[in-house]
Amino acid sequence: MKHFPIFLAVEGRRIVLSGGGDAAMAKLRLLMKTEAHLTVIAEDVADDIRKWEAQGKLRIINRAMEPGDAICAALFYAANEDDVEDARVATIAHAEGALVNIVDNLGDSQFITPAIVDRDPVTIAIGTEGAAPVLARAIKADLEERLPSSLGVLARIGKTFRHAVDVLPMGKKRRDFWSAFYFGAGPKAIAERGETGVLPALETLLDDQVMTARSAGHVDLVGAGPGDPELLTLKARNAIDKADVVIHDRLVTPEILELARREAIIIDAGKEGFGKSMAQSDIDALIVQHALDGHHVVRLKAGDPTVFGRLDEEVEAIEVHNISYSIIPGITAASAAVANIGQSLTKRGRNSAVRLITGHDTKGYADHDWRALAAPGEVAAIYMGKKSARFIQGRLLMHGADPATPVTIIENVSRANQRIIATTLAEMEPTMTQANLTGPAITFYGLAPRDAAAQAYKLKEFA
Ligand code: SAH
Repeated sequence: MKHFPIFLAVEGRRIVLSGGGDAAMAKLRLLMKTEAHLTVIAEDVADDIRKWEAQGKLRIINRAMEPGDAICAALFYAANEDDVEDARVATIAHAEGALVNIVDNLGDSQFITPAIVDRDPVTIAIGTEGAAPVLARAIKADLEERLPSSLGVLARIGKTFRHAVDVLPMGKKRRDFWSAFYFGAGPKAIAERGETGVLPALETLLDDQVMTARSAGHVDLVGAGPGDPELLTLKARNAIDKADVVIHDRLVTPEILELARREAIIIDAGKEGFGKSMAQSDIDALIVQHALDGHHVVRLKAGDPTVFGRLDEEVEAIEVHNISYSIIPGITAASAAVANIGQSLTKRGRNSAVRLITGHDTKGYADHDWRALAAPGEVAAIYMGKKSARFIQGRLLMHGADPATPVTIIENVSRANQRIIATTLAEMEPTMTQANLTGPAITFYGLAPRDAAAQAYKLKEFA
């Protein structure tokens, strides 16, 4: 690119043109579209140019150009159709600081004038760096035909309406609105009712689109964290604030549900492990139905929705109906629990991996790679592991796990009634049964609370 296209601010600035014949007139026809102050300097001036002067479109200095004539000019055109005279006036204008164009002399010009498709304020400039003027004209003709002549009027009125469109969500909804206006409702309004019809058409279109944007419905699949409302993410909090309908798990605490709007519909879709429950397909249907009714649905799940949350089934149901959705992560029980025993999920030199496993799945007790888990230094966070505790303990011992491996059970993580029970694999049962766990509990296999770990280390050292 030897020429860089820009749009120069010329409103109220001087543009000076030397010459009074055909070449001058051709340029003046373009320049008169601008809001610049035009000065024409020439000994012989065509009648049309005089007419334009009489109409107040430009000013004529009826003599050959002299030094001083181009002072403060933004642009200067040499259009005398005489090489010697053009070179002379170009030198003057150049010295006086104007950008200079010599008509039909690309090499000595500092700028060139493109072919222009004018739908002010929409302006399309086409340039070929002088290589193919025919091509430029063909492209111009094509665009002239393709772009509605009302486009400029529409753009001007549209500009005054931009703020009103802020009620639509950013992105696709707004883009759709503007393309429906420029290529549908706008040209139609002009054809039927002229320029005065445009603003009412914009208002009607916006009302319609706001209605459809509202009626589209949306689902946020939100992680509620382990229970403490302060462990909600800001995103989760905002989604709950906006929800029309909240469909929540059994484990979501009342303090978090409190945050929903008073008018919000709150639905308990609680599922009890092994107990009576709402079928997953019923939950999917419930989410979809409320979203199709045009509601902002928050599907609120304990912890992180991506961890043992049956998220994918719900997402698939939502996608089938083309409903927009987003997933908002949360703090999973393992993260909150490990913080509360002062440990890390992974630790250099102890465990370079951690497994999140479930005690049972839809078929019953879940099977795992027990041999791998039984190896020294393994750490696992066991979700839904209360009823399956004896099964897990038996499998691990059977596969050679050290009976002294620490096991920590944390019940009601992050809640006022949190309990931490530190034991070993050998004692895991009956300890868990005796503890009479009534709240949700997570079991760490291979992790002791930090204090207990320090204690055990000291005992070993002094033995
Ligand atoms: N998506 C959730 C897990 C759902 S499975 C998350 O990321 O945490 C349900 C299991 O999560 C429970 O059986 C329990 O093992 C664990 N859990 C969830 N909340 C808990 C809490 N506050 N305290 C202890 N365990 C919890």
